[in-house]
Amino acid sequence: MKIAIVGAGLAGLCSAQALLDAGAVDITVVERRSGPGLETSHANGALLHPSSVEPWNSPGILRFVLSDLGNAASPMLLRPRALPSLLGWGVRFVRESSPARHRANTLANVALALRSLECMKALRARGLEYGHAARGSLATFRDPTAFAAARAWSQWLAEHGGRSRAIGRDEAVAIEPMLAATAGTLAGAMHHLADESGDAHLFCQALAAHLAARGVAFRWSTLVRSVRPSAQGSGSARLALAMATDGDAGPAPSSSSFDIVVLAAAWWSVALAAPAGLRLPVRPAKGYSVTWPLPREGPHPGTPLIDGDQHIAVVPVTGGRLRVAGTAEFCGDDRRIDPARVGNLVRQARSVYPQLAAHLASAPRQDWAALRPMCADGKPLIGATRVPGLFLNTGHGQLGWTTGAASGELLAQLIAGQQTAVDATPFTPSRFRL
Ligand SMILES: Cc1cc2nc3c(=O)[nH]c(=O)nc-3n(C[C@H](O)[C@H](O)[C@H](O)COP(=O)(O)OP(=O)(O)OC[C@H]3O[C@@H](n4cnc5c(N)ncnc54)[C@H](O)[C@@H]3O)c2cc1C
Repeated sequence: MKIAIVGAGLAGLCSAQALLDAGAVDITVVERRSGPGLETSHANGALLHPSSVEPWNSPGILRFVLSDLGNAASPMLLRPRALPSLLGWGVRFVRESSPARHRANTLANVALALRSLECMKALRARGLEYGHAARGSLATFRDPTAFAAARAWSQWLAEHGGRSRAIGRDEAVAIEPMLAATAGTLAGAMHHLADESGDAHLFCQALAAHLAARGVAFRWSTLVRSVRPSAQGSGSARLALAMATDGDAGPAPSSSSFDIVVLAAAWWSVALAAPAGLRLPVRPAKGYSVTWPLPREGPHPGTPLIDGDQHIAVVPVTGGRLRVAGTAEFCGDDRRIDPARVGNLVRQARSVYPQLAAHLASAPRQDWAALRPMCADGKPLIGATRVPGLFLNTGHGQLGWTTGAASGELLAQLIAGQQTAVDATPFTPSRFRL
């Protein structure tokens, strides 16, 4: 059976890995960039966080977004030019924000996230290195109301496998001594014991090398222009990929046929699936990160921190670096870096660790922006579509590092007709009639 996977980010590479383990032998990964993990899986927040997998469309989201319209510093910014493309998607997004739907969607993500940590452990046992750390994470709150809500939410999650506990500021400082400078402002913190961290780009590079050594073919710098039923319909191959190696302006595309095509092309899967009549409810939400080398001398943060008031993550990453990540901007397919949004993130990181403020203002830094592929109900699309041979592994939104490994496993188990490690129903594309 010939299998093509479009996209060499976390979803595509983890799908290839799991398909190999399920017995597939002829796998080709097609990627428009020159290497693995160069888009959304590049410099993300580095957190594998089963503690925080609730979809963004929590109850009351519509009121929040509307009341914050026009606020350029809002953690969730809606650009007017993106509105037309968000209409149908937005209706579903809001529909899924009832308390019952939000809780059900959260629990599905929790199951996928916890399974993913097990899959990642198995991958590390095979020698994959990506700066893994299992120190949990701390979510801090200055606002007592937000802290109380987080505590209640974690208590509920604990009944479903979550491992978090509410702690006071002294204990937070004992876990992360760098918090001493701002401890007086804290109402409390959540210690999320199961959370892990690691560098997603390093992981993608290591996994791609591992897959190549096991016989997976990679076609780098190759843009898939279309996926269509194959002209050789009588043979076993059913889907033809039209591919161009020189990007959009390249020569007439070459075509190859496959029995199975997996779209793991993040938000760009939408355009690839559309000609087949599949309208994927996935839209891009731009996020930013900024990464600095930490100073050689002096104390460094050791624990990933989620600032619950500013909606950012400040995470030590391998190689002696510190990364701040956050913000969501619905602005269409626009990957430009807005200096004002970056400036905000830098200011926020400096406020979290004032001891590092001078260093963060002057040290060389890597600014990055990418488009999270947001599915309308906050859960990825994993599995078959109604087009024979066409499968999806996309729509991971803000969670693709947390859920990537288990999503690959689930997809492979579905393709192989095996029993699945997690319930596949919440993720099936057929929930959107795809
Ligand atoms: C600022 C930010 C912070 C984040 N922090 C976290 C975090 O802390 N924890 C977490 O769990 N998640 C986090 N995420 C989310 C996570 O990074 C994404 O969910 C994940 O990277 C999505 O992986 P993917 O493989 O679906 O997409 P991608 O990594 O984008 O892979 C898709 C690939 O498809 C390729 N492609 C697209 N179209 C074509 C085509 N036509 N032909 C060939 N190739 C094509 C692209 O080039 C790309 O390489 C964050 C995201 C952002 C933006």
